Amino acid sequence: RRDRCYGCGRCLPVCPWGLIAAHSYPTPIDAVAQQVLSQVDALEIHTHVGEHAAFKDLWQTLQPWIGNLQIISISCPDGDGLINYLKDLQQIMKAPESSLGEDLRDSAIALKIALKTKPHNAIWQNVIWQTDGRPMSGDIGKGTTHAAIRLAEKVLQSDLLGYVQLAGGTNQYTVPKLYELGLLAHAKSLNGSMNGATRLVSGVAYGSFARRLLVSFTDQTLYLEETPALLWKAVAIAESLIAPLKRPI
Ligand code: SF4
Repeated sequence: RRDRCYGCGRCLPVCPWGLIAAHSYPTPIDAVAQQVLSQVDALEIHTHVGEHAAFKDLWQTLQPWIGNLQIISISCPDGDGLINYLKDLQQIMKAPESSLGEDLRDSAIALKIALKTKPHNAIWQNVIWQTDGRPMSGDIGKGTTHAAIRLAEKVLQSDLLGYVQLAGGTNQYTVPKLYELGLLAHAKSLNGSMNGATRLVSGVAYGSFARRLLVSFTDQTLYLEETPALLWKAVAIAESLIAPLKRPI
């Protein structure tokens, strides 16, 4: 069912006849930007090593709304040259507005004045590097958490500025393992600093593992937010993932 598939791709190799196929339905950024981006505080961008041109295009398209954002998450799986690639993205985000095209710059300035936003180029300082260790695999088993932690360690060992958040393979074993390794930054120790000097993991994103936890609720309705009793039961389950991160030290 198209309305339930989230595109993990795991079913594709299962059919011995190769009868399962995947199709992408990309939505142009322009189609959602006007409606959504002026109202959001945070944005998550998914990318892969080597996609410099696509990232730069997207970054330019986002310029009119960048000043509204409080934080940006860049999600990327491992690959050859990952750290250099992420540093290149940092440079693209840091680039002054003068490096943009004339039309784009004019529209960005007009919108910025209209929205009374802060300068766009400060946002590069508020970046979460989301290390997508083993994408969409957290519900497979305990072992996937190790791939997620290994990739986070790789980024933490670099001199990239920003927070590091685990993803891709995260599950109920992730937080205990991070505490065991002494890799988890407590909220108090973050103290608003984005300089990565703590060299600790600052957050955990749950995807497929959370979806599995919540599937009994999402199976019942596509509009959970319109069914408060069901919604709050689902929120309570979701909070079980957050609570271990917020335990006192
Ligand atoms: S296994 Fe993944 S890609 Fe295949 S139908 Fe299920 S969610 Fe979609």
